[in-house]
Amino acid sequence: MEITGRSDWITQIRDFIGEYTGANPGYSPLALAELLTSKFLISPGEARKLAGIVDNELNMSKLFLAAMELNLTFNCNLACQYCFVRRKTHERMAGATAKQAIDLLLDRAVVPEVTITLIGGEPLLEMALIEQIVPYAAEAARRRNRYVNWAITTNGTLIDESALKFFARHRISILLSIDGGAESHDRYRLTKSGAGTWHKIVDLIPLMKKYQPQLGARMTVSTEALDAMREDFRQLVALGLHNLIIGPAHGPTQWSKKQVEKYGLNLVAILHDYYEWKKRGLPLFIEEFEQQEEYVGWGCRAGRTSLAVAPDGSVSPCSKLLGLEDEAGRWIIGNVNEGIDARLLEPFRNSGDRQPQHCGHCFQRCGGGCYAVNFEQTGNHFMPSEENCLFWTVRQEVKRISHDDYRR
Ligand code: SF4
Ligand code: SF4
Repeated sequence: MEITGRSDWITQIRDFIGEYTGANPGYSPLALAELLTSKFLISPGEARKLAGIVDNELNMSKLFLAAMELNLTFNCNLACQYCFVRRKTHERMAGATAKQAIDLLLDRAVVPEVTITLIGGEPLLEMALIEQIVPYAAEAARRRNRYVNWAITTNGTLIDESALKFFARHRISILLSIDGGAESHDRYRLTKSGAGTWHKIVDLIPLMKKYQPQLGARMTVSTEALDAMREDFRQLVALGLHNLIIGPAHGPTQWSKKQVEKYGLNLVAILHDYYEWKKRGLPLFIEEFEQQEEYVGWGCRAGRTSLAVAPDGSVSPCSKLLGLEDEAGRWIIGNVNEGIDARLLEPFRNSGDRQPQHCGHCFQRCGGGCYAVNFEQTGNHFMPSEENCLFWTVRQEVKRISHDDYRR
């Protein structure tokens, strides 16, 4: 190989590495180092170092982030039986770990505005950490010409005025978990000693609304609460909760076809109330009712534009996966403190390649369900259960009714 000067030499090495890694996506850094030694007469130690740097860069260049879920703790002050964190521990995230995670997101963001969701366990158990990392992230984002949008998912029981003031100052949107009236809510959302929590949260709602007039709430519907579903929705609206997410409680136990049908009929009844009250001027918003479903391909944002970080710094595509009992389901790709292997995200980025054959012929074109629910129900992240198909059918039908009967 003819090399006329140092810059030629560097250019040739760079071109060679580009061509080689492009043609051999599954290359081994050691093989690359050996080639560099034989072709460019670099010492084996230097070649290994160079191959390592290239490998790390290529690996990390496979991240295209827009969002991150920070699991500040797996601990919770409640013991809700349907919680997606199946393994409750007392693990807490260290400040240094949270900062590493935030830096990872900001360094690998492909959008100017990123979203960080504070989640757990109960994230408000870690209010001191929140107060530490929010200003850190704002400053780190400013230095990179980016902006952080914040959200927090909470059971609401630990909220006080000082936390609300902090959230207001830093524009942190609350998503409150509340399942409707006292009976439905207190069936599952209990303290560790078995006491209900509904009254405590309801007492706090006026204070929360003072600081967040658009307070968001999630109503999780269990199979046992199906008979009360419409009434539960009405109770939430009466409490002044107008910005709602309604969704079923998923778990290892699947819903029967009859139960999903009932859920669908209840949603149609809720749809009726929703548009009636909107007509009368109530500022209700349920995203599912407002937007036509658009097919955006197979798979969700997990592992594509979003990652989740556990209290110990472990990184996975999604918090719901991190919460799984079975370690194989968690899909850990490394740790923010020690490095991650972004190549392990390939199945999530190209999840369409793993679409089951029968889905390829299905006219419904769903997104393939939630990876965590799939894993719990079928043992395979990429294999949706029948329950997923049923819920998808219901969602489509409710959206069609919303669009055709109410929004035209
Ligand atoms: S609805 Fe069911 S069968 Fe159809 S694409 Fe989705 S998972 Fe596959
Ligand atoms: S659908 Fe499931 S896996 Fe995907 S982001 Fe939502 S919770 Fe996570």
